[in-house]
Amino acid sequence: MAFEGLSERLQKTFSKLRGKGKITESDVREMMREVRLALLEADVNFDVTKNFIKTVRERAVGSEVLDSLTPAQQVIKIVDEELTKIMGSQAVLLNKAAKIPTVIMMVGLQGAGKTTSAGKLVRYLKEQSQARPLLIAADVYRPAAIEQLQTIGQQLAVPVYEEGTAADPVEIVKNGLQQAQDAKNDYVLIDTAGRLEIDEQLMDELSRIKEVAQPTEILLVVDSMTGQAATHVAEGFNKQLDITGVVLTKLDGDTRGGAALSIRAVTGKPIKFIGSGEKLDALEVFHPDRMANRILGMGDMMTLIEKAEKDYDEKQAAELTRKMQENTFDFNDFVDQLEQVQKMGPMDEIMKMIPGMANNPALQNANMDPQDLEHLKAIVYSMTPQERQNPDLLNPSRRKRLASGSGRPLPEVNRMIKQFKQMQTMMQKMTKGNFNAMEQMMGN
Ligand code: GDP
Repeated sequence: MAFEGLSERLQKTFSKLRGKGKITESDVREMMREVRLALLEADVNFDVTKNFIKTVRERAVGSEVLDSLTPAQQVIKIVDEELTKIMGSQAVLLNKAAKIPTVIMMVGLQGAGKTTSAGKLVRYLKEQSQARPLLIAADVYRPAAIEQLQTIGQQLAVPVYEEGTAADPVEIVKNGLQQAQDAKNDYVLIDTAGRLEIDEQLMDELSRIKEVAQPTEILLVVDSMTGQAATHVAEGFNKQLDITGVVLTKLDGDTRGGAALSIRAVTGKPIKFIGSGEKLDALEVFHPDRMANRILGMGDMMTLIEKAEKDYDEKQAAELTRKMQENTFDFNDFVDQLEQVQKMGPMDEIMKMIPGMANNPALQNANMDPQDLEHLKAIVYSMTPQERQNPDLLNPSRRKRLASGSGRPLPEVNRMIKQFKQMQTMMQKMTKGNFNAMEQMMGN
C-alpha cells in the first residue's frame, strides 16, 4: 500500500511526543528533522519538503502548541492540515463544457496508465451521470493501444472511434469529434500516444491535437511508482500543454507516495483522481484531506462509507435481512456474502481506513486469497440443492463426496461447513437481539 513507509515513520515520530505534558522548542526541532527525513525518503520534492517543514515548524513553536495541554495532538493536527494544504485542500472535480461534448484529452508517458485511466473515467462518468461518452483512439504508435481501448469499450458498452495505425492522429481526432457531434455524445475521451520520455515530437503532436480538440480537460496521467520523476514529468507536460489536472496511478502498489505530495505544489495543478488498481472500477476522486488522514494513520471513514454504499447491493442486503429473520440463510447466501465483501477490495486496505487500524499487525492475515473463495465456491457447487439449504444433511460420506467433487481436501470441506454453521448460529442470535453473541463468536 502506498505511503506505508512514510506513514509508519511519521506515526513513530509523533508517538514519542505522546504522553508528554509539555514540549519545548528543541522537541519540535528534533521532530521536524525526522519529519523532513521521512518526507525526503518518501520521494517528496526537496523544495516542497523544505517549505512544508518551515511552515509546520513556525506553527508548532507558536503558543497554540507549546502552551497546550495536549501538544502531541496539536502537532499532529498542524501536520495534518499542512499535508492537506500542499495536496490542494479541496477535491477538484471535472469541468464540464458549456455545450456538449465535453472533451477530455488524456496525456502522459508510455505505461503511465493513460488507456486504463481513460476506461476508468468513462466508467466513472457513466456511473455518475449516465453519460454517453465516445472514446477516440489517437495512439497510433503502439498497435496494442487501439485493441486495448476497444476491449475497454466493449466491456463498458461505449463506442470507440479509430482509424487504425496508418492515419494521422490529428485527423483521427478531428473525425472522431465529428462523429461525437453527429451522435450527440456528451463526453469525448481522447487516448493519445505516449513516449518513454518527454520529447519534442510528442509535445508537438499533442499541441496540435489540443488545438483541434479544444479540450475542457487535459488530464496528465502519471505513475506514482516513478517517484521524483513523476513530478518532473508533470512539470514538463504542464509547461507545454497547460494541463488542467492529474490522474495519479498505481497508488495501490508499493509506491512511496512522494508524487501525491509534490505535484500540486510544483505545478499548481490539482490531482483530480487516483488509480488504485488495474480494474476499471479502481478509480477514486482525490480528496487531499482524506489522503492526509490516511498518511497519518487516522483512517478514512468517508471513503470507506462511500465504498460500502457503492459496492453493496441494497436489494441483496434486504434479502439477506429477510433470510436472517426467517432463518433460511443457506450455502448460496454464504458464497454471496463472501463475494460482496471481496468486491470492496483487499481486506487489509479496507480495514486501514478505519481509524486506529492502520498499523495493526492483525491486518497482516486479514486478506482472503481470491483463490480461497474459488475453492469455497467449488465445494458449495458440488452440493445438491437440498444440501445447500441444510448443512445437517452433510454426513461424513456426503462430505467425502464433496471433497472429491470439488477437488478440495476433506479437512477444508469440514472447516467450511463449520464456518458456515457458526455464521448461521451467529445470525440467529443476532436477529433475536442478542448482540453479545456476536462478540462471543468473535472470541472477545
Ligand atoms: P498507457 O501506456 O499509458 O496507455 O498505459 P496502460 O493504460 O496500458 O497501463 C500500463 C499498465 O499499468 C497496465 O498493465 C495497467 O493495467 C497498469 N495500470 C494502470 N493503472 C493502474 C493502477 O492504478 N494500478 C495498477 N496496479 N496498475 C495500473
